[in-house]
This record gives sequence, structure tokens and C-alpha cells, in this order.
Amino acid sequence: MTAKEILAKLVSFDVLSKQNNLSLVNWISDYIRKYDVETVYVYNEEKTQASLHCRIGPALDGGIILSGHTDVVPVKGQPWNTDPFELIEKDGNLYGRGACDMKGYLACFLSVLPQMVAANLSVPIYFAISYDEEIGCLRAPELAEDIKSYYSEKPKYAIIGEPSMMQPIVGQKGILYVETHVNGSQGHSSRIEKEVSAIHESTRLILWLENKMKELARRNTNESFLPPHSTMHVGQIKGGIATNVVAGSTTFQWDVRSIPEDNIMDIVNEYQEYCDELQKEKRKQFPSFKIENTLLHPPVPGLQTDEKASIVDLIGEVTGNTTPSYVAYATEAGQFAEAGFESIICGPGSIEQAHRANEFVSIEQLEFGVQMIENIVKKISI
Ligand SMILES: [Zn+2]
Repeated sequence: MTAKEILAKLVSFDVLSKQNNLSLVNWISDYIRKYDVETVYVYNEEKTQASLHCRIGPALDGGIILSGHTDVVPVKGQPWNTDPFELIEKDGNLYGRGACDMKGYLACFLSVLPQMVAANLSVPIYFAISYDEEIGCLRAPELAEDIKSYYSEKPKYAIIGEPSMMQPIVGQKGILYVETHVNGSQGHSSRIEKEVSAIHESTRLILWLENKMKELARRNTNESFLPPHSTMHVGQIKGGIATNVVAGSTTFQWDVRSIPEDNIMDIVNEYQEYCDELQKEKRKQFPSFKIENTLLHPPVPGLQTDEKASIVDLIGEVTGNTTPSYVAYATEAGQFAEAGFESIICGPGSIEQAHRANEFVSIEQLEFGVQMIENIVKKISI
């Protein structure tokens, strides 16, 4: 099958994060097994979702992991011109949810599988296919660990094919999503001096986050990133029931995107200290006042691969793109790096197309992705 044919098949599975992905993973597994390559599932507890990995080539150290995720973000509320789960070709582009982020890359390496199997590889190639990436990169750590424990040899590199226009990306910010819930006292708005408004207290917390961001921007910068400092942003807020009622509860969700110079949990812990102080103060007035913080996923580590690392040379050789760059979005690359693999982001399509209506990957980019994998196969063939 060509990359385009495989991509059409992959896009037809409308599997979002948190949803059962076995039909999609089974299809990929069946495809791989047709080439007499063994596949390994890494299930969730309920056995309703799975990551998958496999090895092509000899059981020798120094292999290359090609990694991508199967889940896609929702299409609800987005103004799509076509069925998002049917791959549509128009004007040199392939439209569909996940075409770019990141079933395109999966299609690239799956389409080169016949050449991999036929080649006499000096080091192995691994496929590492995860799920629930879009809701906080939840499954890459266990997938990377399973690869380390399942195979007796040790892979050296990991190429995470998030859309980068096939440019090598060596750095990404760390990321963490947090939900803050504030419980205040309800009452008539005319009595605001007697009540503790959850909305008013929430604005103090939000301002604290904004001021902390400014302070961090003065303290630590890394010019490789744009913006060159850690950021905090509140993306959702809910609270209150009427203009003349003091708000009894507020919930807001925010993210931290940290440069490698800042520790993401230090920022969150400092915020927690401020929350504790505010809670203590306000309880004098309203004893049930409460601020609760919930981490919506474990912190996703940043990526900081040395620009002189051999993975950068490898990508340069197989793509012709030799200038490493940096991104502010989160991927599984930091987690593969933490697991001990020299990791890089390089994949077809543009991040500008990801997550939006009428997402697409150009045929040119998809073919470039295939070319990169074919060049890797040639390079490591005896
Ligand atoms: Zn992605």
C-alpha cells in the first residue's frame, strides 16, 4: 500500500483520545504481521486501548525508533467543508482529521515496511505507536519503558514525527495542565463585604499567575524558544449564577509551558503555597472557603537534545535539513528522551494545520516523509 492509501485507511478510524482504539491498532497490527513482523500490544487496564510496538531487523544495539500517536483531537464545533474522517485529495493536499497530526507520519513509515523487511539492516528499526497523546502525552512513558524491557538490545534514537515540515526539532517546552477550583460563600451581592466571592478570589489567583510569568520572564530566558520564557495561561473559566449573587464556586483551567531553565513543578508548588496562604486568610471570614488544585496529567518534560547530537546529523543526512530548531508545543519526544533515547521531532505537515477544521497534509510533505524513511533504510542497510 502507498502512504496515501494507508493514510486514507487510518483517517477513516474516528478514534479520539480516551476512546477505544483497538480497531485502529488491530488494523495496523494486521498490516505489520502480513510481513512476518511480530507486534506487541501495551494495553490499558481495561484492555480497551493499546499502544503497539514492533522491531524490524536484527536484535542489535543502536536501532532507530519511529514514533507517532493514533489519537486525534475532536472535530465538534469546527467548520469542516468535508467529512473529517474521509481522506479527500484536493489541489495537492490531503484533507482529514489526523492527516497532519499525526497519522501522516504513521502512514509514511508503515508504507516503507516492505523495504525494511527486504533490506539487510545493520541495526533494527522499531515502530512505537501510542494513544492519548492529545490529552497530555499520557502513554509514551509506559510505551518507552515496554520497549526497553521487552527487547534485549537497546535502541539508540527516537524520531517523533509530529508535524514539523520535515525540519529537525531539538527542543520543546515542558507542559502541564492544571485545574483550580475555588469554593466561596453564596449570598446577595449587596452583602459582598460579608461574603467571599469565588470569582473575586479566582481573579487574585489568575493575576498571581500572570505576575509570576512576568517575573520568570525577567529571571530566566532561552532565546531558542518563542516566547523565550515560560508561560502561564488561563484558557477556561466557569463560575457564578447571576449578577446579583456572590459566586459560590469557580473553576478555571490553565497551562504552564516551561523552558528547560525552569522546573515546571517548582512553579506549580509556588502557586500552591500562595493558594494555601489565601485560603488561610479567607477562612477567617468563611470557614468553608477552599482552593483545590488538580493536575490534569503528569507533567510532560521538555526536550533539550544537543544541537551537536548524532541524531541531528542523521536527520540532516536523510532529509537535507540540517538546521535544528525549537517549538513551544508539547510532544512525546521529551518522554522518549527521558527514557534514554536520543530524540528528535521531524515529521510531515505543518503544526499550523493541526487541530483545526480542514486539517491537511500536502502530498509533497507526505512524500518527503516517505523519502526520509527510505533514506534511513538505505543508510543502515549492509
Ligand atoms: Zn500530535
